[in-house]
Amino acid sequence: MKKSTQLYEGKAKKVFLTDDSDLVIQEFKDDATAFNNKKKGTISEKGVVNNAISCKLFTMLEEHGIRTHLVEKLSDREMLCRHLDIIKVEVVARNIAAGSLVKRYGFAEGTVLEHPIIEFYLKDDELDDPLMNESHAVALGVATFEELSVLKERAEAINALLKQFFAERKLKLVDFKLEFGRHKGEILLGDEISPDTCRFWDLETNEKMDKDRFRFDLGGVEHAYGEVQRRVLELD
Ligand code: UDP
Repeated sequence: MKKSTQLYEGKAKKVFLTDDSDLVIQEFKDDATAFNNKKKGTISEKGVVNNAISCKLFTMLEEHGIRTHLVEKLSDREMLCRHLDIIKVEVVARNIAAGSLVKRYGFAEGTVLEHPIIEFYLKDDELDDPLMNESHAVALGVATFEELSVLKERAEAINALLKQFFAERKLKLVDFKLEFGRHKGEILLGDEISPDTCRFWDLETNEKMDKDRFRFDLGGVEHAYGEVQRRVLELD
């Protein structure tokens, strides 16, 4: 499969068209941003690590009946994907209070949530991805009520599968963000699932093993990403 025109360059990935109009190639970069682009840097080999982790997780989810955009891993940094019409909703699932949940609602960091929280954010960098409910999303024309209910159900199912997958690898899945897209009348999981888009804490020490190490200059960023990759791939 050959890359043709670049369709889009985002913060962590480039997307290319291919000679098949139904397929695109996602190329994972080492660039890292946080706080909506206010903090910028690079994480050495992040693109390779996030591609490997994402391909493994999408494959596992497919094996459990979750449809995703993954077709195949093409190379270290490249993932061949179905071309989605991305839904401009970021779906966040939370099992343990951290990040904006702590800031917005005053939860103590680390509070275990009895029921996972699912949130919708508008995917719009200029507006700083505001939190929204179903009526906002429908009023904005980004999704229908029916689609939003599919996104919520899908996020809950994915959360259950990922939580167990990571527990078996001695990682707590604190929270994560998903993106979905439309494809031939279906809704597929898109984008990536990686330490850039999830919070992972070590099961025993609670050490942060994700992008929070970059966000808050905790050091050992590459080591944490590498360790997550090792644990994700080790039980193959
Ligand atoms: N997240 C993401 N992209 C975003 C916003 C959030 O991947 O644009 C992920 C983030 O890494 C975390 C989860 O979604 O795992 C919840 O993020 P939160 O709302 O706490 O916001 P943050 O603290 O990242 O600003």
